Amino acid sequence: MNRLQMTTPIVEMDGDEMTRILWQWLKEELIEPYIDLKSEYYDLGLKHRDETDDQVTIDAAEATKRHGVAVKCATITPNADRVKEYDLKKMWKSPNGTIRAILDGTVFRTPIFVKGIEPNVKSWKKPITLARHAYGDVYKNVEIRVPGAGKAELVFTGADGTEIRETIQEFKGPGIVQGVHNTDASVTSFARSCFEYALSEHKDLWFGTKDTISKTYDARFREIFDEVYAQDYRARFEENGLTYFYTLIDDAVARVMRSEGGMIWACKNYDGDVMSDMVSSACGSLSMMTSVLVSPSGVYEYEAAHGTVQRHYYRYLKGEETSTNPVATLFAWTGALRKRGELDGIQGLVDWADGMERATIAVIERGEMTGDMVATATMPHIQKLNSKEFIAAIRAAYDGKQ
Ligand code: NAP
Ligand code: MG
Repeated sequence: MNRLQMTTPIVEMDGDEMTRILWQWLKEELIEPYIDLKSEYYDLGLKHRDETDDQVTIDAAEATKRHGVAVKCATITPNADRVKEYDLKKMWKSPNGTIRAILDGTVFRTPIFVKGIEPNVKSWKKPITLARHAYGDVYKNVEIRVPGAGKAELVFTGADGTEIRETIQEFKGPGIVQGVHNTDASVTSFARSCFEYALSEHKDLWFGTKDTISKTYDARFREIFDEVYAQDYRARFEENGLTYFYTLIDDAVARVMRSEGGMIWACKNYDGDVMSDMVSSACGSLSMMTSVLVSPSGVYEYEAAHGTVQRHYYRYLKGEETSTNPVATLFAWTGALRKRGELDGIQGLVDWADGMERATIAVIERGEMTGDMVATATMPHIQKLNSKEFIAAIRAAYDGKQ
């Protein structure tokens, strides 16, 4: 069989535990039989991160900047237990955090819709993509427990010594006070990533803050989004028939609940933390959720939203069968290779990605699935498959044998 040829390599970041096993199986069964895979391989498995003093993570992120598209397997973020288990030199930082800092990106998460595993919100016909600003606000706060009566002030001292001072509160008794911040640079990157991704996915963009109450802080988010949109994106949105829609955060929540879905919903850090859990739980599980990091310059890193599925891995090591869901990891590959196909004008890659995703959904919709999906599925005939059987069913469906 003639395999599809690629022109530009994708950056391949291998990972840990059960997802590392699935990675190999997916490549052998669903990718390499069809594509002469051109990838620049980086082993982000914990052992190799330790051996390279985590340089491999930095190299992989730099390679992503050069090539434009990466696919990443789930990786262990070490804690004290892992330091012992893997005999690590130190407690290395989260690879996702390191990569995000280098690419300066925003993570977009979208549930994968399947007939027979319906979202709890009945009006949602199309998946909602959540974009969470991942810097600042309450996540980089400074807090004081006020012991008793006194004055709390907000003071900014400029590099030239000029001072801005505001009274927060004249306390008559004990209380609490908190300082939060964000930067124009970070909010601008967030805005650019959102506009870039909306164009790339051909979806409307919604954004909400509380700028009626927070007339300087939240208003700055709105202003920056407005400025970036007017300057660089309005024309392209209009050409593509897309909308950028701003409203108050509470109005956005109400409208999202009544909507058909299908939009990208940009959220400030805290709103995104809360709302992404709401959207993903309403749609099932993290194993049916895609995740992509998009940099403001339009570089893409595709991954699964879940972790390395440690408990399944230990069972696998004991020689037991596991029914681990490979869909999110497969869709990271289809996402990355489709994007590569679009950028390089290789229609075959786009068609392979579309076909593989259709085959996956068709297999689940006829009732064949991994254990995690069984609990929420409502089709008449449901058959629980192990990971290998499930992958084989997808291959057969793709080949048109089923
Ligand atoms: P996890 O790997 O997401 O797994 C948590 C549980 O969710 C699993 O035990 C399993 O439940 C279920 N689950 C998750 N993905 C599944 C799938 N594909 N198929 C079937 N069931 C699935 O989270 P964790 O156990 O908290 O973390 C394990 C490791 O992953 C940690 O070392 C953490 O640092 C890392 N992690 C990495 C990433 C990333 O790289 N993106 C993200 C999160 C966590 P049952 O056991 O009940 O079947
Ligand atoms: Mg959370």
